[in-house]
Amino acid sequence: MTAERNRQVLLASRPQGEPTPDDFRLVESGVPEPGPGQMLLRTVYLSLDPYMRGRMNAGPSYAPPVEVGAVMEGGTVCEVVASNLPDYGRGDLVLANAGWQEFALSDGDGVRAIDPAHGPISYALGVLGMPGFTAYTGLLNIGRPKPGETLVVAAASGAVGSVVGQIAKIKGCRVVGIAGGERKCRHVEEELGFDVCLDHRRPDLPGRLEAACPGGIDIYFENVGGAVFEAVLPLLNRFARVPVCGLIAHYNAAELPEGPNRVPLAMQAILVKRLTFRGFIVWDFADQFDAFRSEMGGWLREGRVKSREDITEGLEDAPRELIGLLKGENFGKKIIRVGPDPTQHR
Ligand code: NDP
Repeated sequence: MTAERNRQVLLASRPQGEPTPDDFRLVESGVPEPGPGQMLLRTVYLSLDPYMRGRMNAGPSYAPPVEVGAVMEGGTVCEVVASNLPDYGRGDLVLANAGWQEFALSDGDGVRAIDPAHGPISYALGVLGMPGFTAYTGLLNIGRPKPGETLVVAAASGAVGSVVGQIAKIKGCRVVGIAGGERKCRHVEEELGFDVCLDHRRPDLPGRLEAACPGGIDIYFENVGGAVFEAVLPLLNRFARVPVCGLIAHYNAAELPEGPNRVPLAMQAILVKRLTFRGFIVWDFADQFDAFRSEMGGWLREGRVKSREDITEGLEDAPRELIGLLKGENFGKKIIRVGPDPTQHR
């Protein structure tokens, strides 16, 4: 073991509703030595993503939960510290799933090399990584945008929504974003180039959305559920497409909301308007990743897609930042800088 210590954030307990800092525990241990067929990774950037809330729950989902007492899972950009693998050497930069810790061992499975020439290495966790790929595949395969159509997307300043809207603009759509607060809405309109962005925290979202979509909605990229979905549903046009990507408004819910059962209304709309709802998980389209990376790389170089990152220093703040992300306190792709970025010292 080296003299350095490895700080890790563990899942301490399963949250009931909104997570609290007590659901996490920061611990220290020794830095492990890589054995044969292993390498030692140092975490530079840790991605925080809404799916992590789901992994804190017990029970079946599309991926197994994090066990209580285990290191929280997460995508990372790492530097190779020492390697007994032929394909990786000291100083290489890689995309890995090292989780919420400063050092991790890897056998190379699921690891991808990162080329710093393609932009900031943190982009591998955002616009050039999982969230950007989610936006690309969900929109192009399920939303199937056509010029002149109207697309609506919420969490519009976030990692996925910001990319959905910008690609839809490239495809010739009219794009209506929904975001929390005036600052985010201004950014979405002025920096990202959406046609309009509505603040869902202000009163009468249904009325304002109807006014912003005079020809109805052809594609609703579903990121949030809740009140936004209720405002969208009556405005969907015949044959509208709804890629169901995420339902963040419900992730902290411990029980179903009160009120009348509105499932029949939703089903009636799906039938009468011949709507297509399709849920997807990003890796359903894994074979499109190389095409995505090359096309998105081009759009970034041409300035047709922009990315805003929200970077916080220090692993110890990850629990507070994840709790905040679920409430809209992030402004852009949420990333924790866990250790020094070697590309910023070259
Ligand atoms: P973001 O960077 O957009 O951060 C989450 C945002 O959600 C918050 O900033 C907040 O934005 C918004 N939000 C939170 N609660 C509500 C609410 N009640 N109503 C409306 N908006 C709310 O996250 P991502 O871009 O990483 O993820 C967006 C969605 O995509 C999530 O639902 C996520 O689970 C999903 N996803 C799905 C994947 C898949 O494979 N299917 C892969 C990746 C992400 P604001 O302040 O603007 O309201």
